[in-house]
Amino acid sequence: MAVTGLSAASTTRPSTSAEAAPLATRPLRSPHHTASAVALVGGGSPPRPGEISLAHGGVLFLDETPEFPRAALEALREPLESGRITISRAAQRAEFPARFQLIAAMNPCPCGYLGSSLRPCRCSPDQVARYQGKLSGPLLDRIDLHVEVGALAADELVNSPPGESTQAVRGRVILARERAMARQASANQALEGQAIDAQCQLDAAAAKFLNTAATRLGWSGRGIHRCLKVARTIADLAGAATVQITHVAEAVQYRRALKTTG
Ligand SMILES: [Zn+2]
Repeated sequence: MAVTGLSAASTTRPSTSAEAAPLATRPLRSPHHTASAVALVGGGSPPRPGEISLAHGGVLFLDETPEFPRAALEALREPLESGRITISRAAQRAEFPARFQLIAAMNPCPCGYLGSSLRPCRCSPDQVARYQGKLSGPLLDRIDLHVEVGALAADELVNSPPGESTQAVRGRVILARERAMARQASANQALEGQAIDAQCQLDAAAAKFLNTAATRLGWSGRGIHRCLKVARTIADLAGAATVQITHVAEAVQYRRALKTTG
């Protein structure tokens, strides 16, 4: 599973008149993987908004991500960068807002057991490569947090102690966001250009660590900038004024390549 951004978003639920105004509820859209590129990003004549615009200000959740049409996935690149989508059809041109938090889930391979200790994977290396290859490098480059969620055996699932409550995590996220807003009047993910360097300054050890990781992993300039913003957010979650090597190290390990062998 992979996630972009670290901001909190609530889910849509039916509202009653006693509840908050509609604008206080963030949308959650989860289109099926049979959705066409037009349904996902918008299009048609006259141009209409797609799921990504209906998710503006909220969450777009894609389950079984590699099963979506390649063209639909590739069309996410522009809005993931700019928060807008431009649709051109013959003489018509329309622009729709599309600033959403992308949550994309996928299995490691077609059978789902690559790397699992519960069952052996039945896929050939070719099948794994073809499956993972459905997500292009430039699309993965725009996904900040790659989190592997291992399958649990039934008894582990039943006997594991409850995790931290959503309420507690929410409180921490709100505090971190307030720190960012107080420092730079914008969320970390919205920093651009020189503002990234100014707000995500690293000490010598942290900078060396990031340079080494970026060179070894062949990151683009975009990848480095995105990693810096994640490191800044991790530092804010920890209440740290400066971005230290531990924050950078954590950010680096969220931007890792997919596992290709068991
Ligand atoms: Zn498999």
